[in-house]
Parts: sequence; structure tokens; C-alpha cells
Amino acid sequence: MMEKMHTTDEDIVWTCQYCGEANSVWIDLTVEGKQDFIEECSICCRPNRIIVSVDEGDNIFIESRQHDE
Ligand SMILES: [Zn+2]
Repeated sequence: MMEKMHTTDEDIVWTCQYCGEANSVWIDLTVEGKQDFIEECSICCRPNRIIVSVDEGDNIFIESRQHDE
């Protein structure tokens, strides 16, 4: 699942691929390139793989995947 987001701060919302709940995570947008990490859902505690990228227009893209996919 891909979502295009516009945000002025660095709290990014992602959707748990197991239970569908929205979670937020703080991201350091000064890091260049793609960020790829595991976050546990605060509702069901299952690990989701989070992939964050920023394009040249400062658009933030966040993708969440099931960890075992
Ligand atoms: Zn969950």
C-alpha cells in the first residue's frame, strides 16, 4: 500500500497491515534516500516493515508491508 502525504512535521502516519489501525512514527527527514525499518504496531504489537522515501519536491511517501511478506 502506497500513500502520498504532505506534512510539515516529521510525525508520519502508517497503517498496520495486520489489524488496519493507524500508527504514527517520528522520522528524521534530514536522512537522505530511502529509510527502511521495522516498527511494531501499538495496537496488535506485530512488526510491520516501513519504507519511507522523499522525492525532489519534498513529497513524503510511506509504505507499510507485512514483515513476513
Ligand atoms: Zn496492528
